This record gives sequence, structure tokens and C-alpha cells, in this order.
Amino acid sequence: MNYADSARITAVLTNCWFSYTENSKDADIIIFDTCSIKQKSEDKITGKLKTIRPDQKVRITWCMIQHNMRSWKLKAESWKLNVWNFMGSASSKTPKVIWLSTDEINNWKSKNDASSKEGNWKFIGINHAFNPIFHNLTQKRKNIELMRRIDDTGLLPLILKKLGYTFSYDQEMINEYEKIIPENISTSMNSHQKTVYIPISTWCNQFCAYCIVPYARGLEKHFPVDQIINETKIHLQHGAEEIVLLGQIVNKHPEFITIVKKILKLKGLKRLRYTSPYPTYYSKELLDLHEKEEKLCPHIHIPLQSGSNTMLKKMFRGYTVQQAKEFIDNIKKLTRKISITTDIIVWFCDETEEDFQETLDLVKYGWFDMVYIGIYSSRPGTLAAKNYSDNISRAVKRDRRNRLNELLKDISRKNNNEELGTTKEVLINKIRAWVIEWYTDNMKQIIIETWPILEWKKWATKKWIRVGEFVTVEITKTIAFKLYGKIVVT
Ligand code: SF4
Repeated sequence: MNYADSARITAVLTNCWFSYTENSKDADIIIFDTCSIKQKSEDKITGKLKTIRPDQKVRITWCMIQHNMRSWKLKAESWKLNVWNFMGSASSKTPKVIWLSTDEINNWKSKNDASSKEGNWKFIGINHAFNPIFHNLTQKRKNIELMRRIDDTGLLPLILKKLGYTFSYDQEMINEYEKIIPENISTSMNSHQKTVYIPISTWCNQFCAYCIVPYARGLEKHFPVDQIINETKIHLQHGAEEIVLLGQIVNKHPEFITIVKKILKLKGLKRLRYTSPYPTYYSKELLDLHEKEEKLCPHIHIPLQSGSNTMLKKMFRGYTVQQAKEFIDNIKKLTRKISITTDIIVWFCDETEEDFQETLDLVKYGWFDMVYIGIYSSRPGTLAAKNYSDNISRAVKRDRRNRLNELLKDISRKNNNEELGTTKEVLINKIRAWVIEWYTDNMKQIIIETWPILEWKKWATKKWIRVGEFVTVEITKTIAFKLYGKIVVT
């Protein structure tokens, strides 16, 4: 999601004739697109700020801002603020507020979206640098110029003018995050543009006890189908081949099946994936599509989090272990071989040895290809932080992690062994030294040792293998968590 968001920010700024550089040393302006999922993510930002030159302007956006804004006392009345799009006002004596008037915003909106209704708010405060938490940061780092919500990305040109920048833009943009299309801008973590990440919804209403997302981003919003399809078509026309649909609960979009079916029919598509799903929103229709549609990747992620009913209830997940097993059974009944992965949070508050044993049992039952293990970290403001204590000792945590890892290693080794001798289509993501790395269509990490294969392929087909190219690979060796293969020249 961070990559997709950064692409939208880049789209707005390049439209205003800013140019993009990957090297922060060359940049006049540095933007931090932050994450709050763990305390460590927020701490990283404060660490990184120390590495920035005093003459470089810094802007911070996304979850860290939205999450911390919540701890701020509302004094909206005294500042004549309407809180519709704004969480509060300053308790600092020297607030640094950038005001956008109703007229400015309404003009902006009506110019770009004929269907939008006039907002009834008076002002929007954009620069949150005067939140006492951020205020301290700006006192230490005078080059912090702007702190804003990701939702205000479309308003960046207006904000920049308020900050004293002069520029023109090629096309008017809109303050609706989802309508900004990062055309020809990489939206993924890859160095090629064959994979494109497309948000179809944002925020989350689930309020799992441990999770900061609903507080950091707000309540769920689903983007219109036509707009999602339009964005997908644009990326496919520009050469993308792998589409990844994004959402905090991606399969909760009320028209998820329609979106998937429509994208599967689009010209140029080779692969379709989606992340992150939620167990209870896997419909029979979606599983049927996984079975029949070759382009829908044979990988289903089912984030179960725990195998203990006590823990699931405390986490507010809304399903039982029995139901979790039924979800797994439904996937295993499919005739197409599907790789299944899950997320498990171990060491959640009050987790007993018995709870942990039940989680190990569920992992054995699911026989997952991968378990992404989450180390519970208490996030201020969440239900868990308010009501439970993080009371598992470090030694117990370490012991449980090791035992889960051992089980996972064993399952992964056995599952991977079954892939031996099969062929897979692999999208090359990285080539380093004599090794090519990426994931298979069923999300397994694969290493292709290129020499002398690379030379052989060159000789056989007079063509070099490049990053962003699909190649067919035969699996020649397997270990836990990894496949090894050789390129099949056709
Ligand atoms: S579903 Fe739960 S874990 Fe996932 S983003 Fe929403 S609140 Fe967080």
C-alpha cells in the first residue's frame, strides 16, 4: 500500500513539474510515506530524519500522522475549524497552519468533479506540524516543512502554493485519492513496471483488538468498479502484466467478484493477485474462480492469526477455530493445486501454553506453505493496549517462536519437495551476480542459478534474460522456504 500511495504522490508532483530522484542525497524535498503498524516503523522515521541535510525540505505523510493526530485534544471551535476533514486544532501557541478556504477547495472540486456536492466545511487545516507531538519534532528539525494526511494528496498543488512554491501543472487533479492514476509511474517494489499495485479499497472497519489500522487510516471506503477497471486498463496498455489488487480487507469490497471477473477479461493481463484478504470474506464464487481461472494465481492467503478460540475472541476476529478449519477444507477441496499461506500472531496477551499448542495444531491442520509470524507489539489506542497487558516473557516468546518455526520448516520442506520436477512460470524480479530471484505464481521464493544457463539461453535463443521478463522454470532442487530451478528454453 505504501508503494501504491507513493506512486500517487509522485503522480501529483510530477504533474506540477517536480522531477523524481531515487537518491535522497540529490533531492531538494524528501517525502516520508510512513507506516504505524509497529512502533519500530515510527521509530525508523525519527532515526532517518537525522540523516537529512538541514537545507533539504522534509514532508511526512500517511499513518504516522493520522495515528498520532488522534492523541490530540480537539479545540476546533476556538480555531473556527470544522472537523469534517480535520481531527483537531492546535494546543501550541505558535501553530503553523495552512488554510485552504472553502472557495479554494470547492473551486478545485467543482472544476474536477461535476458530480461532487459542495462541502459545508469552512476551512481545512493541512499542516499538522503543530500537533504537540509533531511540534516537538519540528522544533528539533527546522527543515520539516509539511505534515499532512495521505488523503490530501490531491490537494498538494494548493498546499505547495501556500508554502510559497510557484509552478504550473499539466492537468487538473482532484482531491480524491482514489481517482489519481499514477500513469507510467512504478507502483510496486520491483525495478520493473510489469507488476502494478491497484488499491480497490482503503481503511478498515474490523477493529481487531491489536491493530492500529482503523485508528491510523479511518473507516472503510470502497472505490467504484469503473474507476478500478479504468486504472487497470491504463496500466495494462502501458505494459503491465501482473496486477495486484490492494485493500486492508481486499475481498470485502462488495463487488470484488465483479472486479476480478472484469480484470480477468482484460487484454494484456498475465497474472492477477490480491492482498490482504480476510478469512470470512472468501466466497464460494471466489474459490471457484481460483479453481477455473488460470490467470488468477494459485495462491490463497488466509490470515487466521491463532488456533485458539480464546485468543481469536480476544483479538476480535469474528470466527472460531472450527470455522477456520472449514475455510481451509473449502480451499483444499478445489481440484486445482493451490498454495495456502497464513498469518499467525504469537504471544498475544495472556496466550497460555495450551493456546499456543492449539495454534500449532491449526498450522498442522492447514499444512501451510508459509506462515507469516507476527510478533505482537502493543499499539497505543487499540483495544488490546487499553485492556490487556503484554504479559508474555521474552524467554517464552523466543521458545514459542522457535517451536513454530521448526514446525513451519518441516511442513515447508515437505510441501516444496512435491514441486520437484514441475515447471512454473516465473516473473524475473531481480538479477544479481549469477542468481535470479523471484516468486512463483503460487508465491514461493525461487532461485535460478543462471550460469551457465544464461549463456546457454543466449546461445539457444539469441536473447538475454531481463528483469520483468516471464520465463518457464523447471524445479530442480527444493529446501524449506525455497525452490531452485533452471530455465526451460522453448
Ligand atoms: S482486518 Fe483487522 S488486522 Fe486487518 S487491517 Fe482491519 S483491523 Fe487490522
